[in-house]
Formats: sequence, C-alpha cells, structure tokens
Amino acid sequence: MSMSPSLPTVPILARLLLGSNLGDRAGLLAAARQVLAATAGDIVAQSGLYETAAWGLESQPAFLNQALTVSTWLRPEALLDACQAAEQHAGRQRLEHWGQRTLDVDILFYGSHVIQSPRLTVPHPRLPERRFALVPLAEIARAVRHPQLGLRVRDLLLHCPDPLAVEPWKGPA
Ligand code: ADP
Ligand code: MG
Repeated sequence: MSMSPSLPTVPILARLLLGSNLGDRAGLLAAARQVLAATAGDIVAQSGLYETAAWGLESQPAFLNQALTVSTWLRPEALLDACQAAEQHAGRQRLEHWGQRTLDVDILFYGSHVIQSPRLTVPHPRLPERRFALVPLAEIARAVRHPQLGLRVRDLLLHCPDPLAVEPWKGPA
C-alpha cells in the first residue's frame, strides 16, 4: 500500500493565532483550544493570553490573543477547515473585514512550508507588521525562522513597527 505523497509523513508543527473581541473572550479561546485539539491535533505549546488594542479598525473593543503550536497531520487546507469550524463553533458572523468577532483563528506558520493558494497564504502575510501576533508567538516559538524572510520570530518582533500595545492579560476585571 502506498501513501499519498501529499499527506504529511510526519506531524507538522503549525503555529496558530487565536483572537476574540466579542463576548466572553477568555471562555471563547478556551473552547477554541478544545475544538482544535479534537479536530486539528495535539496542542503542544500555548502562550499566555494577551490583551491588545484592535488593529486595522481601531474603534472596537480590545482583543484577547493567544498563540498555539498544534502538532497536526492535516494538510494546510484541511487545517484551515478546522480553524474555520472552530470559528463557526464560536458563533462567528462575518460582518466586516477586520471587524469585531467572537473568534478568529489564523494560521501563522505551517512548519516551514510556504503556501499560496486561493484560500490560504502561509506564512501569514501580515505577521511581521502585527505585534499582537508576534508577542504571543515569540513566547512559544522565539527561535523559529520565518521561511521566506529568514529571520527568527524574536527578530521579527525587534523590527516590528506596530505601535499598538500588547499586554499580558490580567484576567476578568
Ligand atoms: P482576517 O483574519 O484577515 O480578519 P478572516 O478571518 O475573515 O480575515 O479570513 C478571511 C480569509 O482569509 C479566510 O476565508 C481564509 O481563506 C483566508 N486566509 C488566507 N490565508 C490565511 C491564513 N494564513 N490563516 C487564516 N486564513 C487565511
Ligand atoms: Mg482570520
């Protein structure tokens, strides 16, 4: 029996970014971790929760963000399906681009693969300009190299021009 060459033969370490700025943000992130662990693969590392001012459309509530490393056997598009299913599970409605959302799950890295398809661009194209993604990612993947830029995550963070504050979350007020 031969295996399809397009299936990973070893699990891939995918780095995901979770975000929520609507409803019970911490509870939504916890539920997302449960859904992703059941559908995408074992969560082998997770950052703390960070509270970050909204990026892009700034007149909206602050986000909670968290980075995960998931050890996955899913191909990239199937992993995106799992991420989008987690968003649906959180009741996400796509109202406006970059607008408020109960849950956003983005694929930052898929191992060191570079992917360009109609549904997917990996590494995530806006990672270098988003402190809210780099700060949590640096907590779990400081020395991981961006496969196109050749820089480590910690160096992307040093060079990130984003002025928006990213603070460790203090918990519910
Ligand atoms: P954003 O995260 O930019 O606010 P959405 O979450 O609404 O926007 O995603 C819009 C589309 O981005 C998705 O339908 C998905 O097909 C596409 N996409 C492209 N690359 C990625 C990626 N690396 N991770 C997640 N989604 C991606
Ligand atoms: Mg998204």
